[in-house]
Amino acid sequence: MSRRVQATAIGIDLGTTYSCVAVWFDQHNRVEILPNEQGNNITPSCFACNDTELLVGEGAKNQITRNPNNTVFDVKRLMGCRFSDKRLQKDIQSWPFKVIEGSSDKPMIVLEHKGIDKEFSPEEISSMILKNLKKAAEAYLGTIVVDAVITVPAYFSDKQRQATKDAGMLAGLNVLRLISEPTAAAIAYGLDKLADSNHPPQKNVFIFDLGGGTFDVSLLTISKEGAIDVKSVGGDTHLGGEDFDRLMVNSCVKDFKKRQKKDMSGNSKSMGKLKVACEKAKRDLSSTTQTSIDVDSLYEGIDFSMKFTRAKFEELNADFFTKCIEHVKKCLTDGNMHKHDIDDIVLVGGSTRIPKIQELLSAFFYPKTLCKSINADEAVAYGAAILAAKLSGSGNKAVTDMILVDVTPLSLGIETGKSDKMSVLIPRNTPIPIVKEGSFVTLYDYQTTLPVRVYQGECKKTKDNIFLDEFTLHDVPRARAGKEAMNVCFSIDANGILNVSAELRSTGNKVSIIISDSGKVSKDDIEKMLRKVEL
Ligand code: AMP
Repeated sequence: MSRRVQATAIGIDLGTTYSCVAVWFDQHNRVEILPNEQGNNITPSCFACNDTELLVGEGAKNQITRNPNNTVFDVKRLMGCRFSDKRLQKDIQSWPFKVIEGSSDKPMIVLEHKGIDKEFSPEEISSMILKNLKKAAEAYLGTIVVDAVITVPAYFSDKQRQATKDAGMLAGLNVLRLISEPTAAAIAYGLDKLADSNHPPQKNVFIFDLGGGTFDVSLLTISKEGAIDVKSVGGDTHLGGEDFDRLMVNSCVKDFKKRQKKDMSGNSKSMGKLKVACEKAKRDLSSTTQTSIDVDSLYEGIDFSMKFTRAKFEELNADFFTKCIEHVKKCLTDGNMHKHDIDDIVLVGGSTRIPKIQELLSAFFYPKTLCKSINADEAVAYGAAILAAKLSGSGNKAVTDMILVDVTPLSLGIETGKSDKMSVLIPRNTPIPIVKEGSFVTLYDYQTTLPVRVYQGECKKTKDNIFLDEFTLHDVPRARAGKEAMNVCFSIDANGILNVSAELRSTGNKVSIIISDSGKVSKDDIEKMLRKVEL
């Protein structure tokens, strides 16, 4: 059914495995999740090419076993990442589609379309997923959609955020704001609870968000007046259901090798079939203690069948699960809270359905019980839609009264000293937006240039952190070491995106950049990409 509505600012949860769109309806005074063309509330974050067409969403996912080399999933794991990143290299080995090194260490995905190999950037693939969601929203709402709030993992770096914003722009969206996924879930949860007359003046809420590819934890306070204040965030942008699936797949490959003396790991079709079967078995194991993985004609015509118990699944993934709890502890420490200070523990993301995860969390927060009242798959899009309504001037009093304070997930600083020392200007968990300044002097006699190398991360040595960008202040007057100085200014906007400027004190000579410019797609690139992604 097509409906005409005025408010067209949508909230998009751009997930690793599934995405979801929601909108605030002024007429109904609430958020609604918008179904896709197939009538489903969540859409696979999948893209595929074949001899005749480009496919996105359900269409792409449905043909994955037939066309594994040209079907892309998990693209969120490539966003804003370097090709040489060790964890990405590990992912690449398990993906049936081809990823090559593009310019400036950027990963590029190679797909065959109409018999020709085409290279796609992660932003382009994400933009097609976003475009598909935009189209579905437009079809349902009966109106053009331009404005959107898009969610990103809280633990996304500056480059990953910038890449997501670029993907939105390529999809023809005006990205009103990027918002962290657990913060969006907190908005959904918080606004719901504010209606409760017994709401205390302030609640400490812990959000545990374990999805397909990313893991986020976030500690927030929610006041009765509607102020949502993020105190600390943590997590891992490379931990989620996809990792659990991968370990199951590896276990099956081993079993097959042992029994059949055949190694199928190099066959993408067999691996694709196995991945689908393992993901299904993993879901089964959340409600039953034993299941079997059955695939007809898995490899060289041989059928595969293997019993898989919940205990085995838990044993395989024990290290991942322990890691999750470690992140919970760290986030509490960062937020200066004890586990007993937490009023509500909210579960978000499909992988929080895993019983072992719930068991470990319950034991940790005992005697508090876990809150599973919000929809794990839809809460993030729901919260994003509320923020989209607020930013576009619609919504009820609770929406307009809402005040949101988010934080930056990773420390930001520059390389100083003769070694590779990280000098932090903005520590992690600082509320954003923020502007901070630091002063740095010349290190050598008669130094005529001052380089500014910008990094993000928690390590003392810059080589262990994420390099973001660099620029140089030239024409420094010749003087003894320490006599000339520059002021470096870091400013993070509400999207978590960083601008850096540096000014030489003696001459007023100034350089400023949006820090992700070098990793970002240029105007020319955008033109080219827009032509290529025309579906
Ligand atoms: P999300 O990114 O929040 O959509 O989560 C998707 C992930 O949740 C995928 O890896 C799914 O396999 C996983 N998932 C969904 N339902 C279940 C379930 N019942 N048990 C275990 N994992 C699940």
